Amino acid sequence: VVALGLTACSGGGAGSTDDTTGAASGDKGDITVGVAMPTQTSERWIADGKAVKEGLEKAGYKVDLQYAGDDIPTQQQQIDQMITKGEKLLIIASIDGTALANQLQAAADAKIPVIAYDRLIRDSENVDFYVTFDNYKVGVQQATSLLTGLGVLKADGTPGDKKGPFNVELFAGSLDDNNAHFFYKGAMDTLQPYINDGTLVVKSGQTDIEQVATLRWLQETAQKRMEDLLTSTYSDGSKVNGVLSPYDGLSRGILTALQNAGYGPGIADGMPVVTGQDAEIASVKLINDGVQWSTIFKDTRKLADQSVKTAEAFLSGGTPEANDTESYDNGVKVVPSYLLSSDIVGKDEIQPLLIDSGYWTADEVASGQ
Ligand code: BGC
Repeated sequence: VVALGLTACSGGGAGSTDDTTGAASGDKGDITVGVAMPTQTSERWIADGKAVKEGLEKAGYKVDLQYAGDDIPTQQQQIDQMITKGEKLLIIASIDGTALANQLQAAADAKIPVIAYDRLIRDSENVDFYVTFDNYKVGVQQATSLLTGLGVLKADGTPGDKKGPFNVELFAGSLDDNNAHFFYKGAMDTLQPYINDGTLVVKSGQTDIEQVATLRWLQETAQKRMEDLLTSTYSDGSKVNGVLSPYDGLSRGILTALQNAGYGPGIADGMPVVTGQDAEIASVKLINDGVQWSTIFKDTRKLADQSVKTAEAFLSGGTPEANDTESYDNGVKVVPSYLLSSDIVGKDEIQPLLIDSGYWTADEVASGQ
């Protein structure tokens, strides 16, 4: 029998004696952890859910894993139900990071600790911890990879031989996802000097995040915007040379629009340098085939592992290890965080980073599924 007390969550104070929800008796197997994931349309969230579930089960807990089909009311309802069912800890990857304050208040009232997973939950004091990647750095990596793809920078970060001017277009993610702002800020801080000195030209003039955002990270929305950009800005015969894309799903939409307009098929045939994120298998194949330039690999196995460690700390009455206590202000408080690092993956990194680590097999990379 393990003694469990929820001393570190914001709803209950350390050592609080009226803790009726802390499973003070019973063993771990009586404890269910609620895991709320956004959508199954992107494979990373399927992998995340699976890895978190397996990790928690291995640690001896029961798991209630729910996907919300990218529908905000569905996610709110799923979390409400997790609380009603008496689950003892919540791990949440939000759809709209600003839409869960009521749920988090109910969790705090029931002394249930909440871990924000990958995406910060905003406007609530009841977020106890945040496990994620260094999202600003992801944006820096996306922009750096765009610059190396264009030849403006060498792989080692020193100046390359190409001076431009290069026509580039910019895409951002969903504005209700806190990460989208961090990715874009990291990218723009990196690209701005090159825009200022004329190396890069954003021919559409669309550089504000509101102009370039993609609601719910939808591939077809990015495809449509790229088509519109090609019609509105490039029908004079000028060419797009590079596209900053923050997520592989968007990258594939952008590549489809470019291909339909006669670019490519590969980078060697004039396909612009297009970045990405998540190392989705369809995009890894495109990178291997020389169509998409790069992605950012965030090892979701490590994120899942870290969230399990964090959950275990809370559920055993301890304090989870944070490695960042200043970057993530959710509008109400700075949430203690554990940030993991990410890697740029171009064609040459597929073998060492994705295949050798067992993230994808060589067959999967070859077939794209
Ligand atoms: C995640 C990215 C993902 C995007 C779209 C972001 O919050 O951090 O990894 O590409 O959502 O699902």
